[in-house]
Amino acid sequence: MHRFLTTFGRALRRHCPYCGASGVFDGWFTLKKRCPACHTLYEHEEGYFLGSYVINLGFTELLTVLIVVWLIAGTDLSVLQMQIYGVGLAVLMPVLFYPLALLLWVALDISIHPPSDFSKRVRR
Ligand SMILES: [Zn+2]
Repeated sequence: MHRFLTTFGRALRRHCPYCGASGVFDGWFTLKKRCPACHTLYEHEEGYFLGSYVINLGFTELLTVLIVVWLIAGTDLSVLQMQIYGVGLAVLMPVLFYPLALLLWVALDISIHPPSDFSKRVRR
């Protein structure tokens, strides 16, 4: 549980899930191939980040549905306004959440398959 909280906390702060270092992105969307501090290769096999798409789409679309339900039940917006907000959220949320989904996928992978030297990295 400690490893899970540590890696996900690092990922949510856009830091390296392995060592906690910042600066793992080139811009908003591009994850560097390796961590600048611990030099861990993030995409260690082709298709590695496929699971991050599932996290990204699942989380953002669930959040979009909840927001649209709130728009329907809790506001006096017209149907057209709700449709515009709903479609806008459905398109924008996955794009904005994409970099975080990459790191959350790495954190999930570490939690399930910890590298052999990970225990000393968690203490940093
Ligand atoms: Zn690192």
